[in-house]
Amino acid sequence: MNNWFISKAVDNTAFRHCIHTSSRIVLVSSLLLLCFTLIWGIPIAAAESSLNPSDAASNKKVAIVIDDFGNRMKGTVEMMKLPVPITVAVMPFLPSSKEDAEMAYNMGHEVIVHMPMEPKHGRASWLGPGAILSNLSDEEIEKRVREAIDAVPHAVGMNNHMGSKITGDKHIMGIILRVCKEKGMYYLDSKTNYRSVAGEVAEQLNVPIVYNQVFLDDVHTEAHVTKQWEEILKRMTYQSSCVTIGHVGHQGQKTAAVLHRTVPTAMKAYQFVRISELAYQGKLPHQ
Ligand SMILES: [Zn+2]
Repeated sequence: MNNWFISKAVDNTAFRHCIHTSSRIVLVSSLLLLCFTLIWGIPIAAAESSLNPSDAASNKKVAIVIDDFGNRMKGTVEMMKLPVPITVAVMPFLPSSKEDAEMAYNMGHEVIVHMPMEPKHGRASWLGPGAILSNLSDEEIEKRVREAIDAVPHAVGMNNHMGSKITGDKHIMGIILRVCKEKGMYYLDSKTNYRSVAGEVAEQLNVPIVYNQVFLDDVHTEAHVTKQWEEILKRMTYQSSCVTIGHVGHQGQKTAAVLHRTVPTAMKAYQFVRISELAYQGKLPHQ
């Protein structure tokens, strides 16, 4: 994105320069400047950001998503300090929703809305404010989705917090995904429900869809997170990409500790990408 802006800015400067003088020398120097930008601009810009490691040995991509930001959860700062870009899923309407989204954005991470949705089992108190419930009217569901998006600055996508009931409901997912489409957002199916219809509905509506593949910390021990990380590495021997979800919260510091230990080695072999890079397959979205 930065490269695009830098190139564009120099491009425009060079173009205006050409209009105001007809000198051939200026034209040649403008073209040279443009060439230098095109040739050198991209690597220079990439080297400036420590979150864009360019020395990965392969094109294979790993996308780390961390859920449950927004409530000053344990592990928040540790996750933000990872040496690679991650996708930060922020719950709306909580004390640090805006603060966490701003911090993530400013540190080069991607922000998405972590939309609370009713599960088949589990306590309603775990859902948080503004949740999508199956007994709400269509209008109320749409309103809650819009308000959640407005409550999380810089969000470019959405995934579900809990939601085993809602993600199995085609009608409700249709309402949610139509708002995502209107806002130019992708949807990440957290796969809390193996009967989720989110992907099917997203494809019908032409909303970019990505699926979680490995939960990093469904058991709250470093040993388990390490085992799940090994599962990702195993998958990377035969998959071109892998999406994994971890959490801040009770286990946040343990998950972050394992990632800080394992990612520096893995980033030499694989590219670590934001979910949008998988959702749009290298195409830049809605510029
Ligand atoms: Zn969650």
